[in-house]
Amino acid sequence: MPVLSSVLSVEKPGTAGQKPWCPTLHRVAHNSKLTASLCLSEEPRCLRLTFYPPYSLKIMKIATVIVLSLCLSASATEKPRVATVPAQLAIETLDLVTIARIRDEGLNHSHVMEYASGLFDGIGARLTASPDFKKAEQWSLDQLRRLGASNVHAESWDDFGMGWQQIGTSLQLTAPSTSTFLAQATPWSPATAGEVTGEVIAVPPLKEEKDFDKWKGKLAGKIVIYGDAPKINPNPANLLEHYDEAKLEHFRSYPLDGDQNESHVLSNDPAVWEKAFKEMAFLEKVGHFFADEHVVAVLRPAGSGGVIHDDTGISLGWFVYRPEHKQAIPSAVIASEAFGRMHRLVSHDVPVSVRINIATHFYGDHEPGNNVIAEIAGTDPALKDQVVMLGGHLDCWIAGTGATDDGAGAIIALEAMRILRALNIQPRRTIRVALWGGEEQGVFGSARYVSSHFGTVSYSTKPEEQLVPEFLRQQAGPVTIKPDHAKLDAYFNSDNGTGKFLGIFAEGNSAAAAVFQQWAAPISDLGFTTITLRSAGSTDHVSFDQVGLPGFQFIQDPRDYETRSAHTNQDVYERLSEPDLKQAAVIMAIFVYNTAQRDEMLPRKPLPHPELEEQRTKPLEGIYPTAAK
Ligand SMILES: [Zn+2]
Repeated sequence: MPVLSSVLSVEKPGTAGQKPWCPTLHRVAHNSKLTASLCLSEEPRCLRLTFYPPYSLKIMKIATVIVLSLCLSASATEKPRVATVPAQLAIETLDLVTIARIRDEGLNHSHVMEYASGLFDGIGARLTASPDFKKAEQWSLDQLRRLGASNVHAESWDDFGMGWQQIGTSLQLTAPSTSTFLAQATPWSPATAGEVTGEVIAVPPLKEEKDFDKWKGKLAGKIVIYGDAPKINPNPANLLEHYDEAKLEHFRSYPLDGDQNESHVLSNDPAVWEKAFKEMAFLEKVGHFFADEHVVAVLRPAGSGGVIHDDTGISLGWFVYRPEHKQAIPSAVIASEAFGRMHRLVSHDVPVSVRINIATHFYGDHEPGNNVIAEIAGTDPALKDQVVMLGGHLDCWIAGTGATDDGAGAIIALEAMRILRALNIQPRRTIRVALWGGEEQGVFGSARYVSSHFGTVSYSTKPEEQLVPEFLRQQAGPVTIKPDHAKLDAYFNSDNGTGKFLGIFAEGNSAAAAVFQQWAAPISDLGFTTITLRSAGSTDHVSFDQVGLPGFQFIQDPRDYETRSAHTNQDVYERLSEPDLKQAAVIMAIFVYNTAQRDEMLPRKPLPHPELEEQRTKPLEGIYPTAAK
């Protein structure tokens, strides 16, 4: 029942008051608001309308009659879906009139696809600290000024490393036949010496330095296809995925076994990471070996069916954007089918040659990493110093135009800001948008923003963990907080593609979940039904969560984000879903607005104490009194 569920806040039976038919009007003394409550004993529904001064008793009576008639018809229809996290007895006071205005502006007068084309078609890929990232930064600042935001500025978070841009990459088979292959420079790859034609040689994965010996003196002037040829089986899975009700029900149940795999939560098994760290560090040595042997370029297989991937895992080393780790050899990712064809020929001693041109350019060794920040100033004298944040990351990889990862999150945040400004919303708390840089290399933009404004957590200093960015290291604690930690109400993030918001990951914050459950009622007809205490991983909200601040990622419909667009050449405008982006921007605006208007800040989880983890999880003593020791 979409229309009704948009005006009713939903409660469990028994919490809505026991009197049958009790429309009441009463004054809430502390802030002069008038509230109309309507409760039905037979139905698990309760409505509260809030009127802000100046109010008219006549209007309130009319509204109450309308609500009564709505509820009468509601009692005869199916019940709305209710998220499984139990609601609190305390009823959230929602400004349903403003929520309706946000819905109208965002659903019927959207500009989100204009932002999409301007940013993705007009500017394109936005690799951190690249010239095109800087263009996107300027464009975002300009759009934020135009929509009427205040305090619009770029904020540097660190010396990121080398500015770099791909000018163009081409790869053609020249023997034993001719073909044009799909190819793409790996980010921060050096350039070849212009166009080079050379013989192709296949080198299997090298596991340790002694494996280099076999290849010494055999690689000069060659183009190396490095690694095993991937087996390409037809993929029976649909490209376009949607979460069905069963999947959402799964999200609503808390994972008592701790399994949060489907939410991108990273493994906390040190053995998993130790292996990954070592492999990435060894790849840097492989690159140096090939360079020492005067290889022309290294080609690696990176996707089939017209999709090629380009991200951290495909470069020769992790920190290739740092001048001290600059990749020693040009490298490109190529279609796995092209790799397979050359690999089969070479393994049967058929001479293969290609013409390759990897054209790239470096711009400075110590370019700043920047975030884009802007605000809508709070107006309540007692609350305006408190801040509600929203955002997504502006940076992306280079094969596509970063439309879904995370251009979608950036334009959802922009459009949410535009909606709020278009309606001339005067929020009680300050609303602040952040478009992060450096997310793809290690959530740097948000992590450094949080550490410079709100608080820090210290990380493991084990030597093997220094081989990867901080977000992959074990937290050692303690969390140290700054004064503004007390003023950050919440951060809402969107970074799982273009799909609509189906709910929100409450990150184990059961008190906040009970609030969100009530906020879901007026937007359940938009598909927003699922509040889960599960956690999401690998997005910028984690930077907030790990220092004890409420940071949240929405549950997004997956569409073809995982199957096709994330970190690939297919991450372009055509992968976007206009209806989903409109829905997401509306819900983002409503969540931010609700947070900004609450009398209290959103509830928090206890401050994390990673430094106590060992002590808190160590086995109890005295369990086996008769044990030998
Ligand atoms: Zn992302």
